[in-house]
Amino acid sequence: MGGTELDREGGLPAVQRIRGSAGLGPGSWIDAIMVAMPTENSTGCVAFLADEMLGRLARHLRMAGIDCLHVRSLGVERIREAARAERRIVLTRSRRLAEDPELARVLLLESGNPYDQMVEVCRAFGIDPTAAALSRCSLCNEPLVCAPKAEVAAEVPPRAYAARDEFWRCPRCRRIYWGGSHAREILDRFERIRSAAVTGARSGS
Ligand SMILES: [Zn+2]
Repeated sequence: MGGTELDREGGLPAVQRIRGSAGLGPGSWIDAIMVAMPTENSTGCVAFLADEMLGRLARHLRMAGIDCLHVRSLGVERIREAARAERRIVLTRSRRLAEDPELARVLLLESGNPYDQMVEVCRAFGIDPTAAALSRCSLCNEPLVCAPKAEVAAEVPPRAYAARDEFWRCPRCRRIYWGGSHAREILDRFERIRSAAVTGARSGS
């Protein structure tokens, strides 16, 4: 693990779509962003399990570098098992699931909006969503690892390859991540979430 410190005042690496061999489709640029590798455990190692209705929240949490398991059609038995074995906090909007006596730690979310759900989670657990932002594959939930520039030439568009010196790889799906022009937008969103978690505001944006 390694990388650069986040520069909030300027010079943020840009975010770009992953094209070519990475194979992401239109609109999926948000999966292809990378700003900085944070120090390990900067989110306090809290781990979540989002129920199947909360896929967008799971991806937001992963973009914030937070471990969040999300598997579609995960039955209640498997949720109980993962929550117990992996010490995961279950996130759900289902009151029935939240009241399951076999689940030790559950957060029942009020909002149907992923942004406000992020605020609810960050508030409930004192999480700073900027602390480890963009250090985890938003699709696989795997922490990214540094990928030496010399090894990624064939996997990155030439313009991005020329513009960037730092790249990261998801060890599971092998996607390459690098900084791009939307990085500040993502960090700004997480800054707003952090502020809203502290103040109790809901912006819904
Ligand atoms: Zn991945």
